[in-house]
Amino acid sequence: MNLKEAKKKVLEGLELQEVNSGVYFGEWMKVQGKDVVESICPADGHVLGSVAQGTEEDYEKVMIAAEDAYKVWSRVPAPRRGEIIREIGSELFKNKELLGLLITLEVGKTVTEGAGEIQEAIDIANFCVGLSRQLYGLTIASERPEHRLMEQWHPLGTIGVITSFNFPAAVWAWNALIAAAVGNVTVWKPSSSALLTAVAVSHIANRVVKRNGLPPIFLLSCGSGRTVGNLLVNDKRAALISFTGSTATGRRVGEQTAARFGKSILELGGNNCAVVTPDADIDLAVKGVAFGAMATAGQRCTSTRRVLIHSSIYDNFVSRLQKVYGSVNIGNPMNPHTVVGPLVDAGAVEDFKSTVAKAQKQGGRILHGGLLFSVEGCKDGCYVSPTMIEMEKQDGIVLEETFAPILYVMKYESIDDAIATHNAVPQGLSSAIFSNNIRETEYFISAAGSDCGIVNVNTSSAGAEIGGAFGGEKETGGGRESGSDSWKYYARRQTVTINYGKDIPLSQGVEFPV
Ligand code: NAD
Repeated sequence: MNLKEAKKKVLEGLELQEVNSGVYFGEWMKVQGKDVVESICPADGHVLGSVAQGTEEDYEKVMIAAEDAYKVWSRVPAPRRGEIIREIGSELFKNKELLGLLITLEVGKTVTEGAGEIQEAIDIANFCVGLSRQLYGLTIASERPEHRLMEQWHPLGTIGVITSFNFPAAVWAWNALIAAAVGNVTVWKPSSSALLTAVAVSHIANRVVKRNGLPPIFLLSCGSGRTVGNLLVNDKRAALISFTGSTATGRRVGEQTAARFGKSILELGGNNCAVVTPDADIDLAVKGVAFGAMATAGQRCTSTRRVLIHSSIYDNFVSRLQKVYGSVNIGNPMNPHTVVGPLVDAGAVEDFKSTVAKAQKQGGRILHGGLLFSVEGCKDGCYVSPTMIEMEKQDGIVLEETFAPILYVMKYESIDDAIATHNAVPQGLSSAIFSNNIRETEYFISAAGSDCGIVNVNTSSAGAEIGGAFGGEKETGGGRESGSDSWKYYARRQTVTINYGKDIPLSQGVEFPV
């Protein structure tokens, strides 16, 4: 299937229009007279469709609908909420191929990665079905006679979900489905680079909600970060802002939300590193580093951006990695043989170019790539060649996240040096060690080792499963989403003391003689 055929199939199959409504408040906002944003396919620059943006008045309708829906949804028993989410998971499953293709067309992921992203949303839906029967609180031994002490978890209310372009469906699912299982209602402000995916996913979820006779719990409010994003972040009605995006924007979002005593989950940039020790299984390590650095054209928050290789295996490892870099197919993401598709837009290509230039100015030596790439039949596509740059030391541009397939290659002498260099960046999302040396792997995952939220042994820094809590430390923002007990971020903890006696003893032995 070529890009044109895929576009027709997806737009028809997912019932997308020439101009779609980007606002949902129980019904879709009328598009006439509204500003529209075009969705451009990064593979060849053609227009996929357009999405109408809401005004401030439309945003207000969304927030009012959210508050009304919360009153109903929060009272639905949690296991019943899980049933609704199960149905959404089934609908996503039925539409997996089409939604995956839409992601390929809209943000340029390869077909397998587009489908994988929808699978991730389905996995989260399944997780939520179980979660809806496991929203447990503790019972705690009381120090007072005939008292019971316990904690329970209530929903927060309306939650604002602001998402990045690079996981245009999965990040919504991580947040909106878990928030819904807990009893919340979400207002989604998607990335302006992935509006059609947001509209398509919202359509599917809202159809399920509507046919179950429930009010709108998955609201959508498309608009720019400066307008709708800013309104949402500063809106006291949004008890929690879950923000996924760059550290620069997330820093502002965190400050503004805190200033109004709102809660926030910040999932920001990474500068992820892999350490390859002398005992590593080289075949496995080469594959792991290559996947981490090149998958999604280096546009994963967990992409491997730095590799530290022990000096005793450095030359061998680098030449093996160069061979893999030289063998991958770069091009049209619809082609099943493509490994590296396009960057998301022309701005990302500019960032790639300027980062390569800066690294060279800092003494970086290009070991592979460093160039733009042209793909036959995709004249206006945003292609670059995956790039390896050898750096003498970790400084300047290496400390920054560039959202492109650029891997900084460095040498180390001792595991202590490797860990020190690994941790000496502002970000703290994901990390990896490739080693069969149990002492070094255990050291790396110990408290004295990697300072990241995610650590991997003999597997890539990229490609997390939904079962674990996802997120990172330092300038990555400290948030946790997805599996484990991350659901607690979407809830307020309430400590309950019940006196079932006839007296009123005070804690800490305090007397109150009345
Ligand atoms: P971005 O920061 O440009 O945009 C993210 C979202 O913020 C978009 O929806 C945007 O419209 C919105 N926004 C912009 N200005 C705003 C404002 N003033 N107020 C509120 N919202 C505003 O990020 P991007 O380019 O879409 O995504 C790439 C970045 O996201 C990378 O840094 C990547 O590491 C990060 N990311 C992190 C995670 C994680 O879990 N840690 C996951 C995916 C992506």
